[in-house]
Amino acid sequence: MSEQIKLTRDEFKAKLAEITARQDGARAAAEPYREALRPFEEAENAILDERIEFIEAQEDLGAFSFRCLDCGAPIFGGEPSCAIGDEGYVCEQCAPTLAEAIEGFEGELEFNPGDKDILESIANLRARITGGESPDAQLLYPL
Ligand SMILES: [Zn+2]
Repeated sequence: MSEQIKLTRDEFKAKLAEITARQDGARAAAEPYREALRPFEEAENAILDERIEFIEAQEDLGAFSFRCLDCGAPIFGGEPSCAIGDEGYVCEQCAPTLAEAIEGFEGELEFNPGDKDILESIANLRARITGGESPDAQLLYPL
């Protein structure tokens, strides 16, 4: 934390100018590296564009059922996924663990105190852990 000292207007301006000058120096020192990284970033962005175009073309053909709400990856019928309320699904890589799902439901409970569906979901997830599943196991079902 920075120290809280009341400065005069001139002292404030002088200190701010000094900080700005150091910031400009740091930015200038990094510029050659940013320049060197640019071709790699452009190549990565081109591949990202290709990825998006490829997925969207397949989506237009109805090749998969859903897209992951988190990462946009296609989810095909029968693949493991996790429903996120009524919003849609997340893919295997993005699915929450049992512990994360419980945490999420507990968060929802703050906005909907005593909601029976939420309480039931929490109880079911806790029962799975009590029954021997790891809290770190992912919450997945075949789509
Ligand atoms: Zn995903």
